[in-house]
Amino acid sequence: MSKPGEIVLEKVTKEFGAITAVDSVDQVIEGGSYCCMIGPSGCGKSTLLRMIAGHETLTSGRILIGGNDVTTMRTGERGTALMFQDYALFPHLNLADNVGFSLKIHKVGKAERKERSLEMLDRVQLAQFADRMPSELSGGQRQRVALARALIMNPQVLLLDEPLSALDEFLRLKMRVELKRLQDDLGITFIHVTHTQPEAIALADKVIVMDHGIIEQADHPRVIYDQPHSPYIARFMGGQNVVTGIVTNAGNGRITAEAADGARFDFSAKGDVTVGETIRFSVRRDKIRVVAQAGQDMNTLQGKVANVEYQGTFVKVGLNTHQDDEFIIYMDDRAYFENPLNVGDSVISEWFAEDVCHLLGDNNSSGD
Ligand code: ATP
Repeated sequence: MSKPGEIVLEKVTKEFGAITAVDSVDQVIEGGSYCCMIGPSGCGKSTLLRMIAGHETLTSGRILIGGNDVTTMRTGERGTALMFQDYALFPHLNLADNVGFSLKIHKVGKAERKERSLEMLDRVQLAQFADRMPSELSGGQRQRVALARALIMNPQVLLLDEPLSALDEFLRLKMRVELKRLQDDLGITFIHVTHTQPEAIALADKVIVMDHGIIEQADHPRVIYDQPHSPYIARFMGGQNVVTGIVTNAGNGRITAEAADGARFDFSAKGDVTVGETIRFSVRRDKIRVVAQAGQDMNTLQGKVANVEYQGTFVKVGLNTHQDDEFIIYMDDRAYFENPLNVGDSVISEWFAEDVCHLLGDNNSSGD
C-alpha cells in the first residue's frame, strides 16, 4: 500500500530533440518526506520536477503519486503544487486574492475563499497583511505568499524550484528553517530543487544528486556526505578530498595503496579491488591534522601550503601535493592560530584512516 504523497518514478525519460535532459530515472520518494534535488546546472533537476508537476510531458516512463499513475494526468488533478522560483504573484491582486486564486478557478464561493486564504496566510504568519499588494512586501514575505498560494489546494506534494535563491543569505537561512517547520506541520511530501549543498543537507530526509540526466546517488544527507559513491559526488557535495593511489595490497577488507610521490595509505574498505589498480578514495577535510612529524600508523600526505582562508569557526588550508586535486584541510581555528602557516610552507598532513577514508566508485567527471 503506498502512502499519500509517495512518488514513484519508473524509467522517467525526457528528450528535447537530441538532448536527453532526464535519462531513465528510477526512484521512490517516500510520502511525507523532505527531498532535495541537487546537481550542476543543466543536469535535469527542473525538468524532472516539472514532469512530476505535470508541466512537462514524459518522452517515456511512468510517474505514480500516492499509488496512482499520474503520467498523463493534468496538472490540477495529480495532487501536486509547484512553487515557482520567481514566485509569479499577480501584481494587481492583494495577498488574500493571490492566495485564493486557485479556489476561484475551482469555483469556490467568495466567503469560503476568504476564510481559507486567511487561514493559509495565518500559517505563513502574514494574515495581518491580507489586504496588501505584493509590491508592498519584502522578498521573504513574497516567498511566504507564494508558499501559501501553492498550499491552498491541500496538495499531497509540494514542488519547489529553487525557492530560496532570490533571497539574501540572512533571509535564506531564516526561510530554510520555516520551510522545514511547515513541512513538519503539514506532513506532506516536499521536493525542493536547489543549487546549494548546505541547503540540501540541512533540509532533506533524502538528497538526490543528479548528473547529466541521471541520479548519481540518492540517500540520507549523512550517507551522501560521508559515503559518497563517486569522486563526482565527493567533489560536488564538498567537505571531502579525493585522493588517488595504486593498490599495493588488498584483502580481508583492507586496502594499502601508494600515491605517485610514494605516500602510503592503509584503510579498511568494502568493495573489490586488485593489486595494481588505480583507486580513488575520499578523506574528510575536517579530520586531517598538520603535524611536524607523522605518527605511527597514520596516513599522510606531504605538500606545500597554497592558500589559507579564515572561515570564522575554522581555517581552510589548501595544499599543493602530487595529487590531481588541491588537498584541503579544515583546521580548528585555535590550533591554527597557535601555529599559523604561510603560503609556501612545506607541511605534513596526517589522518587516522579508520574514521575518514571511503573508497569511491568510477564517476570521476566534474559534472560539467
Ligand atoms: P539549472 O540548475 O540551470 O536550472 P537544471 O538541472 O534544472 O539546470 P534543466 O532545466 O532540467 O536543468 O535542463 C536540462 C537540460 O535540458 C539542459 O540541457 C537544458 O538546456 C535542456 N532543456 C530544458 N528545457 C528545455 C526545453 N524546453 N527545450 C529544449 N531543451 C531544454
